[in-house]
Amino acid sequence: MKHFHVASVMLALSLTSTMSLAQSTTDYQDQAKLHDIAKAVSPERIEADIRTLVGFGTRHTLSETESDTQGIGAARRWIKNEFEQISQACGGCLEVYFQAKTISGETRIPDATEVVSVIAVQRGSHDPNRYVLMSGDIDSRISDVMNSTSISPGANDNASGVAGTLEAARVLSKYKFNGSIVYAALAGEEQGLFGGKILAEQAQKDGWRIKAVLNNDMIGNIEGINGVINNTTARIFAEGTRQTETPEEARVRRFTGGEVDSPSRNLARYIDLMADRYIPNLDTMVIYRLDRFGRGGHHRPFNDLGYPGVRIMETNENYNRQHQDIRSENGIDYGDTIEGVNFEYAAKLTALNAVSLAGMAWAPAPPAKVEINGAVKPSTTLNWQALDPKQNPQLKGYKIYWRYTDAPQWQFSRFVGNVNSYTLDNIVIDNYFFGVASVSQDGAESPVVFPGAAGAFGE
Ligand SMILES: [Zn+2]
Repeated sequence: MKHFHVASVMLALSLTSTMSLAQSTTDYQDQAKLHDIAKAVSPERIEADIRTLVGFGTRHTLSETESDTQGIGAARRWIKNEFEQISQACGGCLEVYFQAKTISGETRIPDATEVVSVIAVQRGSHDPNRYVLMSGDIDSRISDVMNSTSISPGANDNASGVAGTLEAARVLSKYKFNGSIVYAALAGEEQGLFGGKILAEQAQKDGWRIKAVLNNDMIGNIEGINGVINNTTARIFAEGTRQTETPEEARVRRFTGGEVDSPSRNLARYIDLMADRYIPNLDTMVIYRLDRFGRGGHHRPFNDLGYPGVRIMETNENYNRQHQDIRSENGIDYGDTIEGVNFEYAAKLTALNAVSLAGMAWAPAPPAKVEINGAVKPSTTLNWQALDPKQNPQLKGYKIYWRYTDAPQWQFSRFVGNVNSYTLDNIVIDNYFFGVASVSQDGAESPVVFPGAAGAFGE
């Protein structure tokens, strides 16, 4: 998102009102560590991992599991071993495990099949039950979604996402965080989003406080089906109103707003700002949809349970290279082969994930129980629950953000200190959307939380 320059327009109207409004986002404190993280992501390691994953021939969910060189069994064991090696290099900082469930009787999984994801958790120091997740998908497919034996490289869809997730783990495991980070290589995506569903449901059962899911699905293609070739943009898909919204919550939202401020949207805005700040030559497009038109991805099972989650992916998709038998027809090469992946670009999107995960895991938890009032008053008051100082010893205080109702990104902000209520004098509630973020001593910020159920990131 390009930055808005509202102040110059307003100067002509009134200098004093400009001063009161334009507390711009420039008071954000640049984080040197996040620049280091972005630079540490390696296109060469991502390339090597994609080549290894492609080398398993097919990673179809129903493919064979016994071979050590071919099929999804070999692929998941290799991924688990990679995470274990990363963990060894950081003194055992990752908890690595298979997460398996037997699925049967489904259209795309008719016979009993173990769907097995690989999960690695980097446990946070003070708030270990607060999670941010990055995911990619292990499985691949070709034209016939049930073909589990033919070559199915799935280089971009979605070896790129798994390779990015492994690389983010390599880079971030060199640091310690306040909250936990989960790296997930999910299975069964093409057969019906099973791995994501299994992880989301288990997380809910175990009471994980999930604040962000960054689902990476196809992060390496820069040559669009429409002829556009561009490696400087990416898309963040984020749904609008929450899937778990009750009729009563919808009624409240109708009168107070929030249809463009679900936690998934404000997670997307957070990542969008991270791209502006830390990733050279990358501008993200926040797309106000759950996913591509009529299509799905592994963030959805998390959204279904009310967790904030987005899909991060390339801007320019090439359908000749997705879900296709490898072949040549009328001079067009079909198939998701390694030639369709740009490793520098995949590294750029991986870096975007890494700085976003790190920023959130270093920041205090997003504020909970945010409320707002100010109807028929000259001023707007926000209040929120105090964060637990044991879980958030790094807390410096809170920052209120606001923007015009038709602006896509937060425009104004004010750091208000370690308080739990604040009144913005002479700022009329009707004319803006508001939210609150938490800020650490060294400037790491949480996503902005829009008031009420519509915007809540949970406790
Ligand atoms: Zn796919």
